Amino acid sequence: MTKTEINTASPLYVLKTVFGYSQFRDKQAEIVDHIISGGDALILMPTGGGKSLCYQVPALCMAGLTIVISPLIALMQDQVDALKELGVKAALLNSSLNMEQAFAVKEQMIDGELDIVYVSPERLNTDDFLDCLSDCELSLFAIDEAHCVSQWGHDFRPDYTELSKLKQRFPDVPRVALTATADERTQRDIIKYLNLESARIFISSFDRKNIRYKIQPKNNEKKQLLDFIKSEHPNDSGIVYCLSRAKVDKTVEWLTKQGFNAYPYHAGLDARKREKNQSRFIKEESVIMVATIAFGMGIDKPDVRFVAHLDLPKSIEAYYQETGRAGRDGLEANAFMVYGAEDIVKLRQFIQASAAPKEQKMIENKKLEDLIGFVEALPCRRKILLEYFDEKPSWTSCGNCDNCLEPAKGFNGTVAIQKALSCIYRTQQRFGVLHNINILLGKTDERIIKLRHNELSTFGIGVEYSESQWKSIFRQMVALGLIDVDMDSYGILKLNEASSKALKGEQEIFLREDILPAKSKEKLTKLKSKSKSGAGESKGDLAVDEQLFNKLKALRLSLAKEHKLAPYMVFHDTTLKEMAASKPQNLDEMSSITGVGQAKLKKYGEAFLALLGV
Ligand code: ADP
Ligand code: ZN
Repeated sequence: MTKTEINTASPLYVLKTVFGYSQFRDKQAEIVDHIISGGDALILMPTGGGKSLCYQVPALCMAGLTIVISPLIALMQDQVDALKELGVKAALLNSSLNMEQAFAVKEQMIDGELDIVYVSPERLNTDDFLDCLSDCELSLFAIDEAHCVSQWGHDFRPDYTELSKLKQRFPDVPRVALTATADERTQRDIIKYLNLESARIFISSFDRKNIRYKIQPKNNEKKQLLDFIKSEHPNDSGIVYCLSRAKVDKTVEWLTKQGFNAYPYHAGLDARKREKNQSRFIKEESVIMVATIAFGMGIDKPDVRFVAHLDLPKSIEAYYQETGRAGRDGLEANAFMVYGAEDIVKLRQFIQASAAPKEQKMIENKKLEDLIGFVEALPCRRKILLEYFDEKPSWTSCGNCDNCLEPAKGFNGTVAIQKALSCIYRTQQRFGVLHNINILLGKTDERIIKLRHNELSTFGIGVEYSESQWKSIFRQMVALGLIDVDMDSYGILKLNEASSKALKGEQEIFLREDILPAKSKEKLTKLKSKSKSGAGESKGDLAVDEQLFNKLKALRLSLAKEHKLAPYMVFHDTTLKEMAASKPQNLDEMSSITGVGQAKLKKYGEAFLALLGV
């Protein structure tokens, strides 16, 4: 379809024929109308919310060329490839092109042969490029990852601040800025530095309904991870985050031994290796990427089915960003985390030992404590997350997080804590968790006898709890700051100011009764069948024929290989699921499946119909 043909068409027509979607999501329709009528906009939407369509549809409805500014050079090629698959005339301009190639793109731009061009901010800011733009008929500037203009954010890019000149130079071309970073200060910076004072602001809820949050105390992290992957994601792609490079490597080795297709990604690997592993993650199916936080920025893979954390992230923002990489396609996904007291101690020490100024350390500490509060919390996880981002959900239970599905009980831990603290005191603050627990449980092991700790008044005063319950109590005491842990001397427990207050019993302290992993494994299976959350946009309640779905996936993979594309660029999982459920019998029926636009229908329709036995 040519642009002129589409040009006269409505946004909904473009959405259907080009993208194969039958309706706009949430605010998309409103945003698209606003942009087409010439307005500027600032769009805040979570990852996976559907930001791209907000500028891609207008780009195809308006006369002229849309320029998309993006800092993610590695991603541009994928974005352009995906658009070309949809039959859109798209190109990119960044440092990956040689002079000749860049010249050719510019000529096409001037000749009106392109609908959308992706460009890096560095390139856009050159006089040469701006002059070229003056010779083009322009429809729209879309500034993606707009938070990069803010020094407050985590990805500050000085080149972004120069984008303010677009307004002076091209006052009549509408501009739309997009970001998945919600906080108000970043928002103010975007408006100020991008000259968007008169832009309409569209804020969507940051709720990722299809992501299920699950957090467990760590007791055997490898086994916990394996149980989780085996029971819920045996054939899926996912990301496993670890704090250190060494742990990434060890985890990869171990997962490989267990028969999984796992690759490492961290700053210690050379650039070529990293690139190769990233491309495998995007182009292959059922791949587990084990990574440090160096991985993920700009990963656009829609079918990441799980994100697992084997270590605590450093803040709720980081957790939300990392887990947000799961389930961009809107289908069910899991955010799984295991954590223990040693993680909390380690992160506190990192902050303590860093050379950052005092003020920054205070901020980092506050962020970490907020995160610890979140992992130890009893109420709905989603509600806590949304409230952290200043949303005010009207409900109390989301029905799709561990705390809602399998509520842990709270209990009054005041006395237990006092017993533990006196035990630490009686042993002169010279021992770690396990020894103190042994005393509380009245165990007569060799060490206890030798040290005559069986003669202490705290010996055997904690038999009402099991060893694992005591471990949970000690972990929560660390989390609440009721004890300090000296990691330099084998994790010796020390009392602090908060300990004395707790010992005096000034205030009752409530703790979480952990659901122990042994129990939770059976429950997990039950839970799986209990709540299929209805997330996702597949039509109707038709059952998905899993066997057929897998066959469709295999066909997709072979077509993707043939066309040198990532499988999701052929069709998303959502599309294949719908196909497996509704089994279209001809091209016409096929075209009504979500994600089947005209270009893909023509290119792949017959092959998929043949597999469906038509
Ligand atoms: P973001 O850039 O906000 O992270 P994307 O634009 O990549 O999100 O969209 C996320 C996913 O949702 C993509 O797979 C996209 O194709 C799909 N999507 C977006 N809008 C719609 C819609 N109106 N109908 C169906 N799927 C949609
Ligand atoms: Zn919940």
